[in-house]
Formats: sequence, structure tokens, C-alpha cells
Amino acid sequence: MATGSSIEWTDTTWNPVAGCTMVSPGCTNCYAMRMAARLEAMGLDKYQGLTRRSGGRAVWTGKLALSDALLQQPLSWKSSRRVFVNSMSDLFQEGVPESYVRKVWDVMQATPQHQYQILTKRPERMTSVLSKGAMPVLPNVWLGTSVEDYWTASRIGVLKKTPAAVRFLSLEPLLGPVGRLHLGGIDWVIVGGESGPSARPIEASWVDSIHRQCVSQGVAFFFKQWGGTNKKKSGRIYKDKTWDEYPKPRPSLTIAAD
Ligand code: SF4
Repeated sequence: MATGSSIEWTDTTWNPVAGCTMVSPGCTNCYAMRMAARLEAMGLDKYQGLTRRSGGRAVWTGKLALSDALLQQPLSWKSSRRVFVNSMSDLFQEGVPESYVRKVWDVMQATPQHQYQILTKRPERMTSVLSKGAMPVLPNVWLGTSVEDYWTASRIGVLKKTPAAVRFLSLEPLLGPVGRLHLGGIDWVIVGGESGPSARPIEASWVDSIHRQCVSQGVAFFFKQWGGTNKKKSGRIYKDKTWDEYPKPRPSLTIAAD
């Protein structure tokens, strides 16, 4: 089943892996965790046992579901699309064996008509796995890391060490100012506030600072949403317009120098 996505910066989600563990405050209100509990309640096999109830809400159990059948899904998509890999998980968590990441790579290599967007909160493991050379740098694979505040901005430096055709940051949920950004080697920045029932508020001054730095350093800027408990109402207008910039693939596939 092809999965059209409501996520503004992609066309489709592809979830060969489901399940995760929390790593930082940005995970506290994880949408995937809530959604996995809902899908389990609907009786979907893949999601059985991935979450449990704790303090009145769903939390990950640490169990992962790795599907070989779903691995094949993009092979059936003929027309080009942007594909967000593992919106319901994190491909580079410790529980996903390198042999399985290799299978994901094989599918992405076999389907150059698509652009794959892989986002992780574990850039250390991503770098470690990809630096071994068993998986090639693919021109249609974009690698990104999530940053939620100043304290998690160190992930950016780790991402820069990872060979990739396109590197991107998802500053969502933005929970605080991120400070000074060194965006050499970064091609794309997505910014968004947290949404959902317990959403923590974003401040316009944090967005202003990021936007200024993207403009001055020539990096594509995508403003996803203000978020909040009613994200439709708060919308995604920033400075009187929508910001839907996308990265241009770099001509040479290099590791950032800084
Ligand atoms: S890493 Fe992503 S999928 Fe995993 S718990 Fe955190 S927010 Fe959720």
C-alpha cells in the first residue's frame, strides 16, 4: 500500500521498521509512539507489543518490528516521489542490525527515481555504520538529523562527518533557541513547532534566528508549522508567506570540511 503523507516536506512515508526508544526531550510527545498505540488498538499485527500504557499514555516498549515484505514497497512505485524513510521509527537505533540497514540501502539503490529522506536522532550510529564503506553514498538519499534546542545541536557536527548527497536538519519540535549554527555542509533546514495535545510552545524569535542564519549562509529553509494544540489554526505562515524551499544536490559527494 502506498502511503501518501500529510508531512509537508515529503510525498510518501515508507516504514519497513516500526518501534523505537526515546533519546532526548524531543521524543517526549513522539507522534509515532501515539500512532503505534492507535494502530495496535486497530489490530494491525506489525504494531502489536510496540507500546505499553504508562501514566495514562503510550510509551515504547523497545520492541521493534522489521518487515521484509515492506522493504519491497518502493519497487512498485513507478513515478518519482520524495520518500520519508521510517516516520514510525529511527533507522539508526541500536536495535536495527546493520544487515537490515543494508537491505534498505539496496532498495534505495534499485529505485533511483525516488528521493529518500532519512532522519535520525542517532547521527553517531549513522556515521559509524555508513563509514564502514559497505553502503555507498547514493545520489538519491538525503541524510538528516533532528535538533530540538541548543543542547542537541551537537548532532549537527556528527551529521557533517557522514558522507551524503544531501544533508539536512529537522529543527522540530523546536523546544528552545539553537544558538549559532555552522551550516557549512548542510543543504536544507526544516523548522517546526511541536503539535498535539501536550505541545510545548515555539517562540518566533527562535525561528527568526534560524531563518537569518539560513539566509546568510545560503541554506534552503522550509518552515513546516507553528504547531500547538491546533496546528491547522496556527498554520505555517512565517513573515507573511510559506517557506517551502528544497535543497539542491551538491555536485560532489564530500564530507564537510568544518
Ligand atoms: S527517535 Fe523519533 S521515533 Fe524514536 S522516540 Fe524519538 S521522536 Fe519518536
